Amino acid sequence: MKDIKDLSLEELEFFIGRLGKERYRARQIMKWLYRRGASSFDEMTDLAKDLRAELGRTSRISSLELLNLERSGDGTRKYLFGLEDSNRIESVLIPDGGRLTLCISTQIGCAMGCRFCLTGMSGFARDLTCGEVLNQLAGVINELDTDEQITNCVLMGMGEPLANYDRVKQALEIMASDVGFGFSRRRITLSTVGLIPSMKRLFAEKVPCRLAISLNATTQKVRAYLMPISKQYPLSSLLASCRTLSLPPRERITFEYVLIQGVNDSEGDAKKLTQILRGIRCKVNLIPFNEFEGTAFRRPQENVVLLFQKILMEAGYTTIIRESRGGDISAACGQLRGRITGS
Ligand code: SAH
Ligand code: SF4
Repeated sequence: MKDIKDLSLEELEFFIGRLGKERYRARQIMKWLYRRGASSFDEMTDLAKDLRAELGRTSRISSLELLNLERSGDGTRKYLFGLEDSNRIESVLIPDGGRLTLCISTQIGCAMGCRFCLTGMSGFARDLTCGEVLNQLAGVINELDTDEQITNCVLMGMGEPLANYDRVKQALEIMASDVGFGFSRRRITLSTVGLIPSMKRLFAEKVPCRLAISLNATTQKVRAYLMPISKQYPLSSLLASCRTLSLPPRERITFEYVLIQGVNDSEGDAKKLTQILRGIRCKVNLIPFNEFEGTAFRRPQENVVLLFQKILMEAGYTTIIRESRGGDISAACGQLRGRITGS
């Protein structure tokens, strides 16, 4: 039976219309689903009984099963959710000053195969549905303390969001909708490995999110070694396309750069980075490599990270070192795996 959370507002209106009911009922249903977290149609008391019954006959309301919740010493929480096909995914909640950021997954595993990423090294199972993307938010909101509220949402968990474009777009639209989760678009960030055509589409279609790009190297050779997708979408083309994106006023692209000892962390790399980013309205997030079992890569010494940052800052780039959070519970960037069924 169809999951009602896989429908956009327009699709839900159409669906309701076909049941012979007023289209505005769709907005009421959306509010029940996302603003009030309804788990059954019977709760939707402002809908007529026959409509509720008809909805129940033709569709279902999906939810995720919370299998485990781990709390890190630094306040980070990692949620392990079970899906209906018994696959599992992880979402991470990160308190940071006044912000509470939820990092969600868009695929089970990832097919991009980046060498420094545990998710990438563990293979790909399938795309998440729109409902499954949204249900991570719903599932975490369910577990929050009464005085807590998620302020930001980042698509930086498992998977490459732009490889699951249509469902992710639909989920983002519901996240930002007033009858959905009500996030302002500035508080949603989508991080991509750099799938150029889909990046362009994202802007052309005004999908409500900000853009982050995982750069991770300053030469095509090193980038293609670390990130196989760079063979298809080379570094020079990626940077050229960034120059053509029409960013909203005052908005910047975030470039993420995982620093790996002896691979991309030299002074020369830092200087090269200042050159290749010139003319792009951007800021840089440096992420010291998170080590995981089986990798030969190492995290650079702290002084190396600080020098890299200094060089970028002196060239005028806002540069933040993203200290890794939740490392003690394997919740840090690149450490999510979420056991894939059968492997
Ligand atoms: N697929 C998307 C979003 C998920 S990955 C993307 O690649 O952008 C989110 C971030 O984690 C990326 O910036 C990636 O470069 C980073 N990352 C992956 N593995 C890492 C590791 N082992 N240590 C630190 N950061 C890592
Ligand atoms: Fe996939 Fe992103 Fe990991 Fe690359 S870094 S393998 S794109 S999740």
